[in-house]
Amino acid sequence: MIVVENLVKTFPGAGRSGKVAALRGVSLEIPDGEIYGIVGPSGSGKSTLLRCLNLLERPTSGRILLGGDDLSTLSGAELRAARRRIGTVFQQFNLLHSRTVIRNVEFPLEVAGIDKEQRRKRALELLDLVGLAGKGESYPSQLSGGQQQRVGIARALAVEPEVLLCDEATSALDPDTTDQVLDLVAEVNRRLGVTVVVITHELGVLRRICSSAARLAAGQVVETGRIVDLVADPESALGHALVPVGT
Ligand code: ADP
Ligand code: MG
Repeated sequence: MIVVENLVKTFPGAGRSGKVAALRGVSLEIPDGEIYGIVGPSGSGKSTLLRCLNLLERPTSGRILLGGDDLSTLSGAELRAARRRIGTVFQQFNLLHSRTVIRNVEFPLEVAGIDKEQRRKRALELLDLVGLAGKGESYPSQLSGGQQQRVGIARALAVEPEVLLCDEATSALDPDTTDQVLDLVAEVNRRLGVTVVVITHELGVLRRICSSAARLAAGQVVETGRIVDLVADPESALGHALVPVGT
């Protein structure tokens, strides 16, 4: 379970206070094995929350617990070890263009000091899992956007993380490719049991794969719940938005 407790993140910025409050006391509980959606308009704090969760950003205050371990105060070797418990998939894929596909997937294993033979074996298994067996020796520029994101997913899974974070992972893709990549994420969740946190501004993404969701507005959680309950709740703005017009 991921527990986020009263998370606050402020950045230096313009304005009277000289600060931007990106997160203003966010609390969440994300059960193991779920596909959990985080939605909200641009500027609501989604990316900042994700960057706190994957330990790229240190919270101003509050805590992040993963399996009971407090990740928010770690440094040095402990921080590097904790980062391996969380894999991230990015909107722009962030692949290394001078490396082949398989060497992109191997990259986090190289950083972790895994020997070459084991790296290869694991990377080949992952390319197979994401439907790219046979593409290992291609370069990212030779692949479609959807294929590049499959490489991004394989790379994120290389170190066997407990959590897969997706930050607008399908926003650069067309609708059909989006659905295929989302279905792959759902399959990875089912087959590997990895908890998935999906950050998106698209309700279609929630509708397709998430079992629960939180809605952020101006750095705060304004709604949370299981999708089925939100949709059934006439008071829920998110549930209302999730029911397609005409049904
Ligand atoms: P979202 O991903 O939902 O669009 P963000 O987390 O990117 O939202 O941003 C939330 C708020 O924090 C915005 O007002 C944004 O301008 C501000 N912000 C985010 N990152 C920084 C930063 N590094 N420095 C200053 N302000 C930031
Ligand atoms: Mg963002």
